[in-house]
Amino acid sequence: MKNEYDVIVVGAGPAGSMAAKFASENGVSVLMLEKDRDVGYPVRCGEAVSLAGIEEFVKPDPKWISAEITKFSFISPDKTEVIIPFEGKGVILERKIFDYELANLASQKGTEILTRAYVNGLLIENNSVCGVKYDFRGKQFQIKSKIVIGADGVESRVGRWGGLKTHSDFRDMESGIQITASNINVDQNTCYFYWGSEYAPQGYLWIFPKGNGLANIGLAITGDIGKKKSALSFLNDFMKNYFPNASVLSSVAGGIPFTPTLEKIVNPGIMLVGDAARQINPLSGGGIVSGMIGGSIAGKVAAHAIKNDDLHKIYDYEILWRERLGKRHEMFNRIKNGIYKFSDEKYDQIAHSLVELPDEKRTLGNVAKKAVINNPSLLIDVAKVFFK
Ligand SMILES: Cc1cc2nc3c(=O)[nH]c(=O)nc-3n(C[C@H](O)[C@H](O)[C@H](O)COP(=O)(O)OP(=O)(O)OC[C@H]3O[C@@H](n4cnc5c(N)ncnc54)[C@H](O)[C@@H]3O)c2cc1C
Repeated sequence: MKNEYDVIVVGAGPAGSMAAKFASENGVSVLMLEKDRDVGYPVRCGEAVSLAGIEEFVKPDPKWISAEITKFSFISPDKTEVIIPFEGKGVILERKIFDYELANLASQKGTEILTRAYVNGLLIENNSVCGVKYDFRGKQFQIKSKIVIGADGVESRVGRWGGLKTHSDFRDMESGIQITASNINVDQNTCYFYWGSEYAPQGYLWIFPKGNGLANIGLAITGDIGKKKSALSFLNDFMKNYFPNASVLSSVAGGIPFTPTLEKIVNPGIMLVGDAARQINPLSGGGIVSGMIGGSIAGKVAAHAIKNDDLHKIYDYEILWRERLGKRHEMFNRIKNGIYKFSDEKYDQIAHSLVELPDEKRTLGNVAKKAVINNPSLLIDVAKVFFK
């Protein structure tokens, strides 16, 4: 290990590994610190992504793909099922292997990686972040860098230490819970989404197949709903009613920020990426691909700023992120605020009108159109997303 690096990345999730890879690839020295013993474990994720989204960064490999998705199934409160062919292709990842692979890509470009390194503070000089303090096997260390990239996930503390406002309104923080279960006899190429007050009020419940009768089954609800009935109780009730013979092989819980990107994701010497910056898609709760995009932009910008000897250039990252996805996420957030508050009757009404459509007209665009018929204020935002 060196005494000083150009860039230190905190957290080796998808966003951190992409930030590290792109910074290394662009010619600066990078150290990535990960608090856990294993990169990619424990997994707190439904593992669903669009293939096109990850192909931008990594060549698909069967060793980290557990199922290929060609259809969506939407189930409304009165159990009307609407099946919609997926125009692209989706995959259910094996995140443990996938995250390893991304860290490996960063390492191949020159990033040094240290696991079991728990960052517990920042070095700050003249109001600018210039390194980190970390614990490694019970000993305390400090290491300097020109830029720190905080990729430390939804519970990020790096941003706060660096003077950024990372607080999200609790109404936008969904509690996510998920199990991986066996004996789940569903179509192995379909992702299922259940809507309504029985399953997950102000959120949704998902079943993502993982091959051989395994599936990730989870749900996300708002903090308000969770105070009355916990996410775990909703999931237990669903499993009892729908899959009484399933065995639970693992379970995870975690916060999902269904919120747009933080107002500021850069301060002197520090940049935030991925969940730490709230780069998650606020409509779906998916954050793997968007975190990778955020990480890739941050890594490139950090390297260019260092090579041009102008650290102020890291502010370009905020602009580039907002152009690429940030503004779109703000729109998704407005759509979410409309759709997630629909009554059971409205979900049923939409489902009924969709099942009447011939197969070729059942597209995600038409789902959105039907969803806004009774909610014209959503129309402009949905139109911008789906029909431009
Ligand atoms: C139940 C659930 C289901 C989900 N399902 C999906 C889905 O199907 N599809 C999808 O796209 N997204 C999903 N998400 C969201 C997705 O998991 C995240 O958006 C994604 O993992 C974000 O990547 P990241 O790199 O920003 O953070 P993370 O993957 O959380 O990585 C952060 C890393 O930082 C490390 N770290 C934290 N603090 C420190 C520290 N102080 N020092 C050193 N290291 C530290 C952590 O150990 C971790 O390895 C789901 C989330 C939940 C909770």
